Amino acid sequence: MIYTPRPLIIAIDGHSSTGKSSFARAIAGELGYIYIDSGAMYRAITLFAIRNKIIIDEYVDEEELKQQLDSIEIMFTKNARTGRNDMFLNNENVEEEIRGIQVSEKVSFISKIAFVRKKMVAFQRKMGEKKGVVMDGRDIGTVVFPDADIKIFMTADPLIRAERRFRELIENGVSTSLQEVEHNILERDFIDQNRSESPLRKADDAVTLDNSYMSQEEQMEWFKNLLQQKFKPAHS
Ligand code: C5P
Repeated sequence: MIYTPRPLIIAIDGHSSTGKSSFARAIAGELGYIYIDSGAMYRAITLFAIRNKIIIDEYVDEEELKQQLDSIEIMFTKNARTGRNDMFLNNENVEEEIRGIQVSEKVSFISKIAFVRKKMVAFQRKMGEKKGVVMDGRDIGTVVFPDADIKIFMTADPLIRAERRFRELIENGVSTSLQEVEHNILERDFIDQNRSESPLRKADDAVTLDNSYMSQEEQMEWFKNLLQQKFKPAHS
């Protein structure tokens, strides 16, 4: 376990499928912090919208979504088997379903809606208020926690990202093609970066981590160095 002088807020943003969740989870484990996956929240709302035909193709019935939003209950609950927090939508465990290609294809159309973001951001701030958290997403260092103690912006070569994600989906029994995965990653990046509400961008005070050619161990070493630099006594 790594000790920090005080409980920190660590914000991890970046492009799609750069391994933000794995990295954030690993850091939280090392620090004994809570890991919060903000993307899971947008994915759960998207699944609700798909199931209730509030989104069809790229069209979202915003009026309907607005009316229903307050009655949608999303929460994380620890899975005793995996030790991870699973996403629950109206008391149903949807952890697996929200990771599928169907939700991935639609989530950026839901996450660009201002009133959806407003609600999610409030929820995320509440979850992070006690500090000692690592949160990953697209606007954590820019909007959710602009005063975060450490901000990391993750990126990697798009083809490498697509290959990693493709392998992961195939291992999980999802039938897809590398082209489909690459298309989805690039499309999500494009929409996330070009939306008017909280677009994905690197915060001015974020440190970039390009992990195209880095193992998970190397990324953890990189993080430990970053932490050491931050808390290095002024005289050394
Ligand atoms: O992180 P993940 O890939 O699961 O996020 C899914 C989608 O949710 C992103 O493509 C983005 O559209 C949206 N998102 C967001 N803001 C966040 C986290 C995720 O807009 N903080």
